[in-house]
Amino acid sequence: MIKVNRDRLLSDLRELAGIGRFKTGVERVALSPLDLEARRWLMRRMQEAGLEPHMDEVANIYGRDPDAARTLLIGSHTDTVPQGGWLDGAMGVIYALEIARAAKERGASSPIGIDVMSFQDEEGTYLAFLGSRTFCNNLTDPEIDAAKSGDVRLRSVLANVEPAANPHRLDPARHLCYLEAHIEQGPRLEQAGRRIGVVTGIVGIRRFRIHSRGQADHAGTTPMPHRKDAGAALMRLAAQVAQEFPRLGSAEERSGTSAASSCVRARPTSCRTRARWCSNSAIPIPPSSMRWKAMYAIGSINWAAALTVPRWSRWP
Ligand SMILES: [Zn+2]
Repeated sequence: MIKVNRDRLLSDLRELAGIGRFKTGVERVALSPLDLEARRWLMRRMQEAGLEPHMDEVANIYGRDPDAARTLLIGSHTDTVPQGGWLDGAMGVIYALEIARAAKERGASSPIGIDVMSFQDEEGTYLAFLGSRTFCNNLTDPEIDAAKSGDVRLRSVLANVEPAANPHRLDPARHLCYLEAHIEQGPRLEQAGRRIGVVTGIVGIRRFRIHSRGQADHAGTTPMPHRKDAGAALMRLAAQVAQEFPRLGSAEERSGTSAASSCVRARPTSCRTRARWCSNSAIPIPPSSMRWKAMYAIGSINWAAALTVPRWSRWP
């Protein structure tokens, strides 16, 4: 049994959180100068732990155990969303580092070593799973060419990365399995009074854009029976989704799926004028065909009752 050093683990987590600290959290968006600084810090820690650190062409950081031919690959990600949490991703990486370090300190030779990984852009700033897909050799050049965040192209920020000559890749002969510890980003463990759980599924997001078309009129003088209020129709739909969605599907589907309404935009934007059209993105997760059919049904019920007809379309 490997005994980890709790104080050293916490100290590393706090030091890493100091790179890009933002209020009580951190901001290390993928491939930003702070993200790369954190990754170089991690490489130094890996070196001190007796691992061989490598940065690949997307700035995945891989710490290779030089004393083992077969390993457990353990890790997570050190990039964050803007104003992210200090434990998201970082915890899994520092756990891996500490396990590898403690295993080396124990000294006894083991036929199985520990390789440590911090994947790049697991938050999908430029391209979802950029790092893990690169490591698994299943990302194509056209996908990298097309990826961007706002107006910034992924290719342009990758120019700041200084990769090793021969980046390591997933090797089924070496990597026996991949393990990742991650902080729960919901309330279930706390509500159940549990300290740890096993992941049964991960988030998959589908976004839809819903348009509601009405008629722009004077907000004060148009009598209520003559109004075609795009905003009101859309809000009725959002309220109905919030009310009905939690009741749909099996108990298992209910516990693993949720829907949100966000990014509401009205045109024209004026307090004196009724919106001619409104759009809203609904974000239900994760997909389940039965729940999806029911979700559409909610939409059609509401649309029939609405003054205007909202349209669903897949968000690109
Ligand atoms: Zn994460």
